[in-house]
Amino acid sequence: MEVFVSSIIQDLEVLDPGELCRVSLLLPSHVEVDGQAFRIQDDMRPGTAFLAKPFGVRTQKYRRRMYTRSNVAKIQPGLLETFINHTHKDLSDTSIWWQSEEVLAWKEKRTPIEIKVQLDLEASVATVYENTKICKSTNLRLEDEGKWEDLSLVCVAFGTGITPFLAYLRYWIAHRHRPGGETNGGALTLIVSARHFSQLMCHDELSEIAKTFPEDFVYHPILTRTWPPGWEGMTGRILSVSRNSSEDEHIDLSKLLKCSPDLAQRHLRLCGNGLACRQIVDGLEQSGVVPLSIRSESW
Ligand SMILES: Cc1cc2nc3c(=O)[nH]c(=O)nc-3n(C[C@H](O)[C@H](O)[C@H](O)COP(=O)(O)OP(=O)(O)OC[C@H]3O[C@@H](n4cnc5c(N)ncnc54)[C@H](O)[C@@H]3O)c2cc1C
Repeated sequence: MEVFVSSIIQDLEVLDPGELCRVSLLLPSHVEVDGQAFRIQDDMRPGTAFLAKPFGVRTQKYRRRMYTRSNVAKIQPGLLETFINHTHKDLSDTSIWWQSEEVLAWKEKRTPIEIKVQLDLEASVATVYENTKICKSTNLRLEDEGKWEDLSLVCVAFGTGITPFLAYLRYWIAHRHRPGGETNGGALTLIVSARHFSQLMCHDELSEIAKTFPEDFVYHPILTRTWPPGWEGMTGRILSVSRNSSEDEHIDLSKLLKCSPDLAQRHLRLCGNGLACRQIVDGLEQSGVVPLSIRSESW
């Protein structure tokens, strides 16, 4: 039996009108199912997605949609933050709804948004459902405890593909020091590609973290379409594709390799636009650079 609990919209921030918003959904502490009370438990692993039922503007129905969580269960249990973009405009259904007048009214009136949970009848616990329990090359669930801490990661995000990496980074900071005063070994380089400055999510937070941990965290924001006067970050696409007369693709990754010259000694994680993620993998193959591992997720 599938069970959903009613969350309310705690925060809704439009970052770029018609393009991008940040949403935080607050879960209740308990739910009652068939007369039995269940405590709601939030154990979501960084890099996983929750299942919500927003409303579809095009279909005028409740829809089931996955959203990758950008905050961390251990730090903000029961508050599910994500970033939702409104791409695929002609076909979009729920993504446009998240920026509608209606959703503001829902927030105001605390109209519930359903979130999927899984029941443990014996323990009377309802756990927030996550899209995957297993780490695979096609998802970005963070590796298990005892494994992730020493991974040296290069994470490349296209647009809202930053969501799993925000969760990684926030988790990484929360666990920066191991018991006994030892510092976790893994370093993290985050490369974020966005079209305009207003679409750089958590830019100030990420810039501050980079200043606080200059040895271990490197942040490379890249703007592809417009940039503000005095912008010191990179500009243009992180990869460039050319084709020969037989239409074979040649993929130039020199910008990516400039951000991470040691990529062959690091674990690569990709998220966002499927074509761009695929072209990075192809470009690495063409240039003979083999990272220690590659995992990639697109939606
Ligand atoms: C594991 C997972 C995590 C996700 N995390 C996020 C997230 O953090 N933020 C976020 O904004 N979205 C995320 N998504 C996507 C999200 O669930 C919705 O699919 C998206 O918001 C579009 O919803 P929609 O109802 O407007 O359009 P849909 O009705 O879902 O899609 C409309 C049309 O667009 C097409 N379409 C959908 N996506 C693409 C695409 N990438 N490329 C080309 N065509 C496409 C569909 O095939 C469909 O025909 C995630 C999806 C998955 C599976």
